[in-house]
Amino acid sequence: PACAARRYPRMKVKLGCIADDFTGATDLANNLVRAGMRVTQAFGVPEAQQSADVDAVVIALKSRTNPAQEAVQQSMLALHWLKAQGATQIYFKYCSTFDSTPSGNIGPVAEALMDALGTDFTVATPAFPDNGRSVFKGHLFVGDQLLSDSGMRDHPLTPMLDANLVRILQAQCQRRVGLVEHRVVAVGAQAVRERFAALRRDGVGLAVVDAITNEDLLRIGPALADLPLLTGASGLAIGLPQNFALGAAQHAAQLPPPTGHRAIVSGSCSQATHEQVAYFQSAGLPSFAIDPLKAASADALVSQALAWAGEHLGQRPVLIFSSATPQTVQAVQKIMGVQGAGQWVEDVLARIARGLVDLGVGQLVVAGGETSGACVQSLGIQSMQIGPQIDPGVPWCYTELARGPLHVALKSGNFGSADFFEKSFKVLA
Ligand code: ADP
Repeated sequence: PACAARRYPRMKVKLGCIADDFTGATDLANNLVRAGMRVTQAFGVPEAQQSADVDAVVIALKSRTNPAQEAVQQSMLALHWLKAQGATQIYFKYCSTFDSTPSGNIGPVAEALMDALGTDFTVATPAFPDNGRSVFKGHLFVGDQLLSDSGMRDHPLTPMLDANLVRILQAQCQRRVGLVEHRVVAVGAQAVRERFAALRRDGVGLAVVDAITNEDLLRIGPALADLPLLTGASGLAIGLPQNFALGAAQHAAQLPPPTGHRAIVSGSCSQATHEQVAYFQSAGLPSFAIDPLKAASADALVSQALAWAGEHLGQRPVLIFSSATPQTVQAVQKIMGVQGAGQWVEDVLARIARGLVDLGVGQLVVAGGETSGACVQSLGIQSMQIGPQIDPGVPWCYTELARGPLHVALKSGNFGSADFFEKSFKVLA
C-alpha cells in the first residue's frame, strides 16, 4: 500500500467551489483559469474521488431558484465532497446580479456553509467589473444603472427590485449583515482585514464588500486568505490564486480542434441576449423562434424545430430561441404559471439541444443560466475542460459524450457583446 500511495498520490484540491447554476460555474472556472489555477468543472456532486491534479474544482448545481431547504441540502453534499478532496477554502458562487427569489436562498446557503465550516464570518461581493457589475456603498450597479433599474427588474424567474445588497441579504439571513465600504478597500488589504475584525467584534456575520475595479478585487484578495468561506460572483476569484502562491496564466487551457455543425440554443430573456438574437438575425443568419403559446404540444414543437435545423445546419451557424420581451413572457406565465412556463421552455430547448447534437452539431452555444442547466443535463455532460474566453465570463469548454466530442459555451443571460453568437465560433476556429 505504501508503494501504491507513492505511485498514485492523493490529489488534493486547494479551492473548492459551489456554484448555484451552470453558466455561473463556467464563469467562475474561467476566471480561476485565467488567474492561474488548474480547474475542473463538474455538473452535480461527482460520485468518484478527484483523480486529476487540479488546484480548484467547481461543482455546478442548479439550485438558484430552488426553495432554500433544497438549495442548502445540495450545497451541503457539494461541501462534503469538496472537503473530502482536501479543499482548504470554500467559494460559494452566485450571480453577479445577485439573482434570487423573494424567499432567496443565497443567505440560507451561505449561513449553512458557515455553520458546517464552523466560521462566524464571511464576505459577500457580487462585483465583476469586467462585466460592468460594481458594488458601491453596498449598492449593486449593472453598467451605469442600479440593479433595480436594469433589465433585471423583468427577469422571468428572479426579478430584482432592490439594489441595496445589505438589505437584500439581511432579509435572507439570521446573522447580521454589514458593509466594507470602498474607502476602506481603496486603502488596501490590511485596512480591509482591520475592518473585517471590527465588524466581527460588532457581531456581523456576513460583510458585503464594495468593489468597483479589478484593482479593488486584487486588493481585497489577500484579506480573504484566512477565511474558510467566501461568497460572491466570479470577480472575487481574480484575487485568490496569489493566496495559494499561483501566478496569472497567459492562456486558458488549449482545447482539441472543433468539429461538427454550429448551433445556438437560447432561452435567455435578458437584455444582452435580445441584442445578440437581433444582431444574429440582422446578419441574415438562420433562426427559429419557439413560441410556447402557438405550439400544439412540446413534442410537436421539438420535432418542428429539429426538422427546420436539419434543413439549415451546415455552412452557417443556426439559432433556435425562445427569448422574448417581458410582455410576451408575462403573457405566457399568466397561462402556464411562472415555474410552469420556465420549465416547459427549458425542457423543450433541452430536447432540441440533444436533437441538434444527434444531427451532428459539435459546437454548441447555450444562452441562459437555467436553460444551460437543462441542456447540460439532457446532453448528459458530467464534467468539462475550460478553454479560451469568448467574452468576460464565457469560455468555450470541451467534453466527450458517447455521441462524440462536443465544444460547448454556456452564456449567462446578460453576458457577451451584441455580436457574441457569431464571434464565439470565430474564437473557436
Ligand atoms: P438568464 O441567464 O438570461 O437569466 P435563464 O435561462 O436562466 O436565462 O432564465 C430564463 C427563463 O425564462 C428560463 O426558465 C426559460 O425557460 C424562461 N423562458 C424563456 N423563454 C420564455 C418564453 N418565451 N416564455 C416564458 N418563459 C420563457
